[in-house]
Amino acid sequence: MIVEKNIEDTRRIVTEWHRKGFSIGLVPTMGYFHDGHLELMKRAADTADKVVVSLFVNPTQFGPSEDLAVYPKDFDGDCAKAREVGADLLFCPEPDMIYAPKHCTEVTVGDLTEGLCGADRPGHFTGVATIVSKLFNIVRPNHAFFGEKDFQQLTVIRQLVADLNFTVSIVGVPIVREPDGLAMSSRNAYLSRSEREAALVLFQALSRIKQEVLDSDGMRDSQDLLVKARELMETKPPCRVDYLEIVDEKDLSPVSTVKGKCRVLGAIRVNDRIRLIDNLALYMA
Ligand code: AMP
Repeated sequence: MIVEKNIEDTRRIVTEWHRKGFSIGLVPTMGYFHDGHLELMKRAADTADKVVVSLFVNPTQFGPSEDLAVYPKDFDGDCAKAREVGADLLFCPEPDMIYAPKHCTEVTVGDLTEGLCGADRPGHFTGVATIVSKLFNIVRPNHAFFGEKDFQQLTVIRQLVADLNFTVSIVGVPIVREPDGLAMSSRNAYLSRSEREAALVLFQALSRIKQEVLDSDGMRDSQDLLVKARELMETKPPCRVDYLEIVDEKDLSPVSTVKGKCRVLGAIRVNDRIRLIDNLALYMA
């Protein structure tokens, strides 16, 4: 696996691969790899001839009071894991290489970014759309892999690709979970043992909603389902609900009645410090 910090050298490598007719799969990440990241890389290795993993903790997608400075890092461990699952190139630029001093261009995706995580994290999706656009232009991948764990992000990226006529195909990868159901996340590393236990309530609340929907033969009222799920979440006081919504999967618009391809998305804060997100499809896949 090649480890490359430099944009121009990365361009040279991918240009050569394209010239030889290899397809390229890109997996954008912020590092501290867990099995969720590795699943994306494995899917990329199954799909494309060459796998590029980007490792960049993108400052522009963090708000001023967020965890940029303490975001977990393990560069040597990440290299070993990426190499093991078949990555060909780890692109790990420094922030000042990605954002030159006079950098002043941003990519903003409209309506989709206003609710859910966008409401809590103003500017977050502009940071995401900007860095992903830059990575697409640097790596020119045929396929790019994103986790369904960040379902709003995946939807925003699909919209970005359609709107800006990128030629990359976007592949969504199902959520990888711990054995008890907690969605894997680099931020789980911040949780103490008791916080980890309490945080499971997010998955439990989402699962309860899914079960009620699957058990019922008719259409279900979203508010009714959400109120009961919130009651469950209030039993774990270190966890505060940021949002819990049932939406239409294709455009993330809230639905009053659950029918067709709906998804429940939630975010919690544990002890006001650690923000975790998760979601479940409310239909049999
Ligand atoms: P991050 O490093 O947190 O920015 O995540 C990089 C990519 O990995 C994103 O596309 C995430 O959606 C994806 N990802 C993170 N956690 C998981 C998970 N538990 N299962 C599947 N994909 C994930």
